[in-house]
Amino acid sequence: MAGIDPTAPEVDDAQPAGETLGSPTSLPFRLDDSYARAVPALSLAWSAAPVPAPRLLTLDEGLADELSLDPAWLRSPDGVALLSGQVPEGVTTVAQAYAGHQFGGYSPRLGDGRALLLGELVDGSGARRDLHLKGSGRTPFARGGDGKAAVGPMLREHVVSAAMHGLGIPTTRALAVVATGETVLRETPLPGAILARVAASHLRVGTFQYAAATGDPALLRSLADYAIARHHPEAAEADEPYLELFRRVTLAQAELVARWSLVGFVHGVLNTDNMTISGETIDYGPCAFLDAYDPATVYSSIDTGGRYAFGNQPAAAQWNLARLGETLILLIAEGTKDTEGADGADGADGADGADAAVEAATGVLHEFAERYDRVFVDGMAAKLGLAGLDAATTRDVVRPLVTDLLALLQTHGVDWTSFFRALAAGTAGGHFLDAMAFDAWSARRDALLPDDRAAVAARMDAVNPVYVPRNHRVEEALARATAGDLGPFERLLDAVASPYAERPGLEDLRGPAPAGAPRHITYCGT
Ligand code: AMP
Ligand code: MG
Repeated sequence: MAGIDPTAPEVDDAQPAGETLGSPTSLPFRLDDSYARAVPALSLAWSAAPVPAPRLLTLDEGLADELSLDPAWLRSPDGVALLSGQVPEGVTTVAQAYAGHQFGGYSPRLGDGRALLLGELVDGSGARRDLHLKGSGRTPFARGGDGKAAVGPMLREHVVSAAMHGLGIPTTRALAVVATGETVLRETPLPGAILARVAASHLRVGTFQYAAATGDPALLRSLADYAIARHHPEAAEADEPYLELFRRVTLAQAELVARWSLVGFVHGVLNTDNMTISGETIDYGPCAFLDAYDPATVYSSIDTGGRYAFGNQPAAAQWNLARLGETLILLIAEGTKDTEGADGADGADGADGADAAVEAATGVLHEFAERYDRVFVDGMAAKLGLAGLDAATTRDVVRPLVTDLLALLQTHGVDWTSFFRALAAGTAGGHFLDAMAFDAWSARRDALLPDDRAAVAARMDAVNPVYVPRNHRVEEALARATAGDLGPFERLLDAVASPYAERPGLEDLRGPAPAGAPRHITYCGT
């Protein structure tokens, strides 16, 4: 049978569906369930664990407004109950199934082990978004986990996703974090929390892997059709809709990862289950921003091989997309067969279709590098104040300039984020141990700049952030929040949510950790 076996042993001590505690009797908005209806075999109805003493820690009121949710209601007891998973009768929350390659090793059954989809919100413009909880208790996918989350990691997801949004990079968003009043056991006892996350959807590469592994082609087709309708509707008009779906996901991811490169973002755990079909960044775990530029940078304690090092992210993403392509081959092959018409024998047609599908999908995968490269080089040109030059100059002059700059920044251990602001301000030379090496590079750039340098600097400042969530500042803010003081968290959140405008009083949030500080290490135990 396709779908999920809900009798797997790990459900025994989990919270059974149907139990509610202090739930609102009704909601002032509608939660839809189009996913559960379209592909019922890919989720399980499940309820959140009861929460002893929910308390709202943070709410993104701007996001609430965007979703036409009333912030005052969300702050009310009913709102906080909803944000901790307690829903009115008649609302069915679900845990989604997915598989995934984790550090290259395949796990056939991951799924929402500690997460629930509350439902979908359709905003004024018709856009459909998931409202989802993380840390809401064990589900049948929990495996050995406790189903819980701690305040620190949930606030980390809140602040880093807000920073990504502020930078204009596609991302899931954090609507709220609620402290549960429980203690969760990690290396030390920690206060528990639930994150309410908003996403274009929670369809992952791993969702396709799970559906494909059931061996039920109808299920896979329903999933692909759902993904097309929700995220890539133009693919439905293409001659080969499933190949076009694969192309659009591939290009969206190429663009996303290029934009990570431009801001120095290291995702840290780029497994296939942590890669979306929508093209949004998802699952902020051991993520971090670069200080000194070095493509070999790894922060995650478990990434000992450097698989997800900063500079390996494009290759890792492309590897994940190859896994997505594999799941789609049969669907693509049917498309290929259809367009070839009825001129061949059935058996021969099938084999030809599969070969042609593999070839077509491989071709799409090759488009990744080209798109990544274009977005990265154009983005770097803008960061350097060299946007809008003709294609030949960009290719022949700007590109080598970028390559040489990256080598220089790496050699001199220059801080990625502050370099570009300093370049606009004319003070970048001070970032280099050997000013002459920089001066030679700088003269090549100067030759390409228009006369109005003030206008160039203003354009650069509009694309080069002042504030990113600096690792040492994030750690400090989360430690203080865990101890009960949200002040530093709120200040950091405010800074990174509007990253381009320099503001007085936030000087301490600008730079990297002081030289000699211990190397930043992130942990997956979230
Ligand atoms: P992540 O590394 O957070 O993307 O999670 C990978 C997988 O582990 C997903 O299936 C999660 O649902 C599951 N997981 C992570 N932490 C827990 C936890 N504390 N309890 C249950 N499942 C978890
Ligand atoms: Mg994940």
